[in-house]
Amino acid sequence: MSILDESENPYLLLTPGPLSTSRTVRQAMMRDWCTWDDDYNRDIVETIRSRLVELATSQPGYTAVLMQGSGTASVEATLGSIIPDSGCVLFITNGVYGQRMVEIARCLGIRHQVLDCGETGQPTAQQVRDILASEPAINHVAMVHCETTTGMLNPLAEVADVVKQSGCLFIVDAMSSFGGIPFDIAELGIDYLISSANKCIQGVPGFGFVIARQNHLEKCKGIARSLALDLYDQWQCMEKNHGKWRFTSPTHTVRAFYQALQELDAEGGVEHRYQRYCDNQKLLVKGMESLDFCCLLPHEQHSPFITSFYSPVSPDYSFAEFYQHLKKLGFVIYPGKVSDADCFRIGTIGEVYPRDIARLIEAVHNSMYWEHK
Ligand SMILES: *Cc1c(COP(=O)(O)O)cnc(C)c1O
Repeated sequence: MSILDESENPYLLLTPGPLSTSRTVRQAMMRDWCTWDDDYNRDIVETIRSRLVELATSQPGYTAVLMQGSGTASVEATLGSIIPDSGCVLFITNGVYGQRMVEIARCLGIRHQVLDCGETGQPTAQQVRDILASEPAINHVAMVHCETTTGMLNPLAEVADVVKQSGCLFIVDAMSSFGGIPFDIAELGIDYLISSANKCIQGVPGFGFVIARQNHLEKCKGIARSLALDLYDQWQCMEKNHGKWRFTSPTHTVRAFYQALQELDAEGGVEHRYQRYCDNQKLLVKGMESLDFCCLLPHEQHSPFITSFYSPVSPDYSFAEFYQHLKKLGFVIYPGKVSDADCFRIGTIGEVYPRDIARLIEAVHNSMYWEHK
């Protein structure tokens, strides 16, 4: 294979990120940038920051901070930089990513409690209300919007309502949902929302971002439990120096993200992207069910981003073989992550359209060798 061939994707990534990006997003990485020049900071980074805030809310009072690393680095930067020693967090969990926030809190010595809903359960407003009423020490609530472990879309508005009434600070990991489903963080009373470049905005991996209620972030100087992951300091540097990052920024990734944001606009914005993802996911479920696959979750709990299917019960089935078969036919799927159910996952985000899903269903049909052996 020549170097040039590598600019084409040999298969579609049906994964929750990194995901398949457009060729134009990949091409945007073809030149080099200086990290202190205005061409980069003022024109690209600052535009991205204000665009992210506009995507998150139509109301004033929010600011965006970009942070090097994968999405987890931004989660860790947020938890480590905004919760003072006197803080206590309620983590609402139903999968690996909620659990990861708990691990971060443990690692950083942040006081916390956990409402564990199991991997296929959802929190109810009443459960959260009861815990907050009986545990007055809790002053922060954190949850994942779409739990990528299963693809479950958590009841954000219901929980947000309770959190708002309680006066707690609300932190949301919207890593796999932001930009792919419409919501307004000010209306929901979200104080900190965390996401990353390589999910629904359809950029490439390398940094995450936090959209923060500015009058709270302003009060977070000196809280950080890490130097490199100090959200406040990173924000201050960007604010004071027109988009400058404290340490080397992932310039090519950032330039690709800028292109990805323009392509989100060209698609018609979040509302239209959401519609495409919904079309993809509905077609996926319909096609897979027609081939006798069963979804792990009830349909009404599904996000349009990623879907878990039970593995076939045939003794001839192996995920590794199924995976290789589909890969040869041009599709990369994702292993399951649920601990007590044998599953695999298929993502429906990225540069993926209903026609691709239709081809996938055809490929799955052709891969069902285990049924005919
Ligand atoms: C992708 C993702 C993350 C971050 O994972 P990284 O591997 O660090 O990028 C966090 N939370 C959720 C819900 C995710 O989907």
